[in-house]
Amino acid sequence: MTVAQALRDATARLAATSDTARLDAEVLMAHALGCTRSDLLLRHMTGEVPPGFAALVERRLGHEPVAYITGSQEFYGLDLTVSPAVLIPRGDSETLIDAAREAFADATPQRVLDLGTGSGALLLAAATLWPQAEAIGIERSPDALAVATANGRRHAPHAQFIAGDWTLPNWSAALGRFDLVLANPPYVEDAADLAPSVRAHEPAQALFAGPDGLDDYRALIPQIPGLLSVCGIAMIEIGWTQTEAVIALAQAAGLTAKLHHDLGGRPRAIEMADPRNKALGKADLRD
Ligand code: GLN
Repeated sequence: MTVAQALRDATARLAATSDTARLDAEVLMAHALGCTRSDLLLRHMTGEVPPGFAALVERRLGHEPVAYITGSQEFYGLDLTVSPAVLIPRGDSETLIDAAREAFADATPQRVLDLGTGSGALLLAAATLWPQAEAIGIERSPDALAVATANGRRHAPHAQFIAGDWTLPNWSAALGRFDLVLANPPYVEDAADLAPSVRAHEPAQALFAGPDGLDDYRALIPQIPGLLSVCGIAMIEIGWTQTEAVIALAQAAGLTAKLHHDLGGRPRAIEMADPRNKALGKADLRD
């Protein structure tokens, strides 16, 4: 059987469990061949099917996400290592980076913090955009911290990844203040109807945040004023139904709140700042 035929067969089988069956088949085939997807399409279609391909398709049929099977996921142009210890970085989360770029315009944040960094995706995207900035990622899961640290070595060796848990007292005592605080906290309702690829495979502690999905926002948002420099902003990911609830928490913490949408047009991030922020020049970014 040729690679082209095996891709057709695998696509037909995967269509039962995946909305992206053809893409999944191609990515798994490229992984089995040890080449890029474009090399696969340009050079390997009439070649022999590599022996490992069938087993990869079986794993995907069991709802395992492609990124965990291949061990990598692209985010903001960076090739990141991922494992089941970390949430797979989503394209939707790139909204936070685009919105932060827009907010800073020609200015440069001097200190960037990522809360619940997971694979390190948000922090490393920021560290790549603003290589002069001090970049710190906080993570409570030791296994996730190891993944982030490995990604940091590849993409931004100056980035620091530190164990920490924002639900514990004094976790941020030594951190100081930041011009940009990023976070994609857990925000899914405990009982949410999630795809099996998410619920059965991605880390529950990165996803779930109580019955209404707001537990981590309730713990974190009141702490944001203590983490921001006067000209700083926080860019926090939300679920698309959580806009009003998260804006209310920001306002209760004395912060301004501005909504950003993702490329699908859904609410995706809330930008928070000290109300004095607007009155200050962007050139003067530090306290
Ligand atoms: N965006 C993820 C999902 O829909 C959830 C991420 C999170 O809880 N931070 O599965």
